[in-house]
This record gives sequence, C-alpha cells and structure tokens, in this order.
Amino acid sequence: MLQQTQVATVIPYYQRFLDAFPSVEQLAQAPEDQVLRHWAGLGYYARARNLHRAARQIVEHHQGRFPETLEEVMALPGIGRSTAGAILSLALGQRHPILDGNVKRVLARHFAIDGWPGRTEVARRLWALSDELTPQQQVADYNQAMMDLGATVCLRRNPLCDRCPVAQSCAAHAAGREHHYPTPKPRRALPERSLQLVVLQDKNGRILLEKRPPAGIWGGLWSLPELALKEDALDWCRRKLGLHARATTELPRRRHDFTHFRLWLHPRLLLAEKPAEMVLDGDRWVWYNPKQQDRGLAAPVAALLKEIQTGES
Ligand code: SF4
Repeated sequence: MLQQTQVATVIPYYQRFLDAFPSVEQLAQAPEDQVLRHWAGLGYYARARNLHRAARQIVEHHQGRFPETLEEVMALPGIGRSTAGAILSLALGQRHPILDGNVKRVLARHFAIDGWPGRTEVARRLWALSDELTPQQQVADYNQAMMDLGATVCLRRNPLCDRCPVAQSCAAHAAGREHHYPTPKPRRALPERSLQLVVLQDKNGRILLEKRPPAGIWGGLWSLPELALKEDALDWCRRKLGLHARATTELPRRRHDFTHFRLWLHPRLLLAEKPAEMVLDGDRWVWYNPKQQDRGLAAPVAALLKEIQTGES
C-alpha cells in the first residue's frame, strides 16, 4: 500500500484491510472482487491484484510462510529487487542494498549522477553505489535511514540541506545544483483517447455496471459500459440489452491521465424506460445500487456515480 501512497492516507485502508484479511490464508482464499473493494480509493490496483496473487503463491508454494531468500521474494508478484531487499533487511537483518525512489534521489544528488535513473546504465551505476555503501552490520537501520533521509530531508522539491547529515560530502549541494538531480524522465506528449461512458439508470435508481477484464486499465474492477464516441448509446441499449432508454442530463467530459496516455471520458446519462429483457450474466454485468457500495469500482466511475448521487439528493 505504501508504494506510491503516503502513510497518512494508507493507515485507515491498512486497518480495514487487516480486519477483513487477518491472515495470509484468508487473503489467499478471498475472491478478487472482495480484495479490490477493500482497495477502492487507493488507486494503482495492480498492487492489490499482486498482493492477492502473492498471498496465493505464499500459501501454495511456501506453506503460508513468507519466503526468506532474495530470489524467492522477488519471484512474488509485484515485488522487485528493492522491495525484496527492504523486506529482508528490515524483517530479518539480511544484507541487501535497496534503491527505491527516495534512495535514488539521495544517491543521485550526493554523488551528482547525471542521467535519468530509468536508463539501464544509470540504474546500474546507482545500484552499484547502493551496494558499495550498504554496511555489513545494522543493515536494517541503514536502509531505513536512507529511505527516511529521502522521505523527510532530501525532499524532491525543496531539499532541507541545512538539516542534512551528509551535506558536507554532498556533491549536488556543494555545487548548488540539488534541483538538477535526479535527471527527470525525458518528456513526450501523452497520446489522447476519448470514449463514452454509458450511465444507464433503471427505475429503481440502479446503474448498469460491467466488469472489466482482469488485465489492463482498471483490471477486474466494475466500470460503466464503454462505447466509441460516435456510437449511438440509445441504439446500443436497444440492440445489446433489449431495452428502451431516454437521454437525460448532459455531463461535462472529464480527464483521466494514465502513465502512457490521457483518457477523456464522456458520460452519457440514460434512463431505462422499460424493464430489461436481457438476462444478465452476473459475473460480467450487474445492476448496481450506488447506496450499497458493495463492488470494487474504478476510481473515476466511483467519483462520477458519487457526483450523480449528490446532484440528485
Ligand atoms: S545535502 Fe541536500 S541534496 Fe545533498 S543529500 Fe542532503 S538534502 Fe539531499
């Protein structure tokens, strides 16, 4: 949960998650939908799916005990070399270097390493430095201190160099070039895509949701049916669902940025006029009561439904 999300945000989610899944066995046995529902709002859902798959792997291949070698931990879904090293050094005192975003920043500044750390040769250099600096004793303290130094002193925007314990030997600070490191990722314009989101409401205020495929954006979460911009949503309702609907309020389009592209969502609010004749496949389609909040929803869909609910009340 703490990858990409701050501690203060994570705490209530973490507590609710542990209440729901108090053991690795219970997490492994839980249906994915239930796990995603407890993650809804934290974003980066791949983390939830990886955690769930890792729990299953730990139960199946390690008799429910967390593995204790770097290779085995790295074989768990979603765990790379740095996270594996951090887990094993903090939990078991094993000597492993780490290189998370905070440590990368501290090292890149302290040693004035040029080049975007996403480039293989730069990453290799940073890993070599991290390994060289990692002590034989008190590895847990050292790794924690490096992460904390990056998180609380060597801040991304405004590093607090006057409070930094390694300021005397920091090359970036000596040159007054703290902000030049680490070198940012070369920018390129995000490609854009647009689609319609069909918000089809029935007479009881329920909304038609479709489950997304397990892989890809919002994988495994419930979302609104999507159509190409030029498709006629009313016609789609007739053909696909055997259902007559009428268009209601227009909602403004909204933007959602992913790492690789920008998505413009155009919500189409429709009201079903007659009962649906289609028998819904419950694993894929559901009439959802927004008041019950019992499904893992894609974040923009949850926000949109909330907006519609609030607008109505
Ligand atoms: S002196 Fe400044 S730039 Fe250098 S490591 Fe410390 S906080 Fe970061």
